[in-house]
Amino acid sequence: MLFRRLLPATAVVAALTFAAACGGAADDTLAGKAEDGGLTIGIRFDQPGMAQRRLDGKYVGFDVDVAKYVAQQFGVPESGITWKEARSADRERLIANGDVDFVVATYSITDKRKEQVAFAGPYFQTGQGVLVRYTENDITGPQTLNGKRLCSVTASTSAQKVKSEFAQGVELVEYGQYSDCVIALLAGNVDAVTTDEVILAGYVAENPELLKLVGEPFTTERYGVGLAKSDAEGRVEVSAAIERMVGSGEWRKSLERNIGQAGVRLPDPPQVTEK
Ligand code: GLU
Repeated sequence: MLFRRLLPATAVVAALTFAAACGGAADDTLAGKAEDGGLTIGIRFDQPGMAQRRLDGKYVGFDVDVAKYVAQQFGVPESGITWKEARSADRERLIANGDVDFVVATYSITDKRKEQVAFAGPYFQTGQGVLVRYTENDITGPQTLNGKRLCSVTASTSAQKVKSEFAQGVELVEYGQYSDCVIALLAGNVDAVTTDEVILAGYVAENPELLKLVGEPFTTERYGVGLAKSDAEGRVEVSAAIERMVGSGEWRKSLERNIGQAGVRLPDPPQVTEK
């Protein structure tokens, strides 16, 4: 009698353990999430050259190509991707909440961010620069920004750097996205915009008669693919996908196609370290 009463309970425990081993646990990894043929990816919508949502609804840019390559390595074709906008201040939250499966959005790998998310990569390296109006003569680099209105984006490493290094002399104006900073610059509401040179170069390429870059890059930014902190397996697989993209020649081709016209030196691929 006792045996008969215990048996179903034992069976239930066994069944649950089996389910966790086969399905439940795997669902939390990127491979598990991609099993249904779809992935939700966080990118920027307003960064020409890196990731831009065109008027025809298509997404183009180097970050977009990296995202598509990684998705494909998990068996997800472009048609299976849902793109979601991931602005600077939203990236950690989108990943932690599971609103996106991963982020490819000019996302610098930092120790502080690693407290909340994991990074694969890096897949690109750039540095912070300064963008001004083409007619500007006074601002020649970050050291000439005293008393000037400088625009950057909330929660970016760029705004953080300005606060820690130029805070006394600069009036920092923060917006939610870089395209708004560029509009403010063109309208004369700010004097300069700062963020990664590769992002700024994309705006110069769109308006070469109105905008220019000044000075030399003054930080090192290593872009990683952001994903759930718990997904160590996913991190290793995405890093391997990045190495394959580089090895196949796709990485260089995409860079030339998307950034080639922007007037910045195209860097070599960085060493993938987050594995
Ligand atoms: N790469 C820097 C960052 O991750 C600046 C660019 C951005 O805000 O996306 O904060």
